[in-house]
Amino acid sequence: MTPTLRILYRGPLSSCNYGCEYCPFAKHTEIDAEHDADRRALDRFVAWVGEQRDRRISVLFTPWGEALVRKRYQDAIVTLTNMEHVEKIAIQTNLSCRLDWVERCDKSKLGLWATYHPGEVAREKFLAQCRDADRRGVRFSVGSVGLKEHQEDIAALRDALPEHIYLWVNAYKRQMDYYTPDEIARYTQIDSLFPINTERHPSEGEPCQAGQTAISVDGDGVMRRCHFVRDPIGNIYDSNFADALQPRLCKNETCGCHIGYVHMDRLGQYELYGDGLLERIPVKPVWRALPMSP
Ligand code: SF4
Ligand code: SF4
Repeated sequence: MTPTLRILYRGPLSSCNYGCEYCPFAKHTEIDAEHDADRRALDRFVAWVGEQRDRRISVLFTPWGEALVRKRYQDAIVTLTNMEHVEKIAIQTNLSCRLDWVERCDKSKLGLWATYHPGEVAREKFLAQCRDADRRGVRFSVGSVGLKEHQEDIAALRDALPEHIYLWVNAYKRQMDYYTPDEIARYTQIDSLFPINTERHPSEGEPCQAGQTAISVDGDGVMRRCHFVRDPIGNIYDSNFADALQPRLCKNETCGCHIGYVHMDRLGQYELYGDGLLERIPVKPVWRALPMSP
């Protein structure tokens, strides 16, 4: 049987209800025509997935901005999780939306990648959303960018979350040598997998599943290996799109983002995450191994 095709979908949407100061989509709104274009692209993608009945498919939505505040994305996920040949539908979200729509999903196939933005939402409010998702039986990971000034807040979130929920920390890599050894140790106590994310992994010439069993797809159906190698390799709306799914070596010098490097063969991340790969939930609760310091 052909291996599951994992698709990172990013359509034209580029707006968000939050205002993170480092983000180009902060508080950005779109005109009706832009929303219509995003809706058409999304509808076409969902219909295409529905037609691929001879192939197992998983999707991670990685929108520019926040998609789950839009009913069309909630409906798309409901539809996709209820397709028999679909294995997993996951989405990156700030978790600010109401969650009643998840009841229409096949929740065994749903995964949320929920990011906490300490400057945008009170911790208690975000935690209430996490508890709601947990009560509804949704599988999700929670995480945040590990800025120095947010360390206490993220530690407090870890303490307050139910133990079975994984909290990841994304290393801030825009500044060289940003962390002191103590800060790395502290974030590693919060997320035992933090050290993997602090590195830009040398990737040039490395075998990677991106382009073979994982692809990135935009609103026009253009296929790329991943979000980080810009050359198109085909288009899912062409009847022969599958011809492009071939083993390839990485062309980039390094790969520093979780949604990319998990597909590099040598890092062994498929074994670590298993079927929680897209929503970033490790198979074993590795995060419980490290007791928090007082
Ligand atoms: S929640 Fe995400 S998309 Fe929205 S402004 Fe913040 S970083 Fe940008
Ligand atoms: S190693 Fe990273 S950048 Fe290179 S192909 Fe794989 S996902 Fe893309």
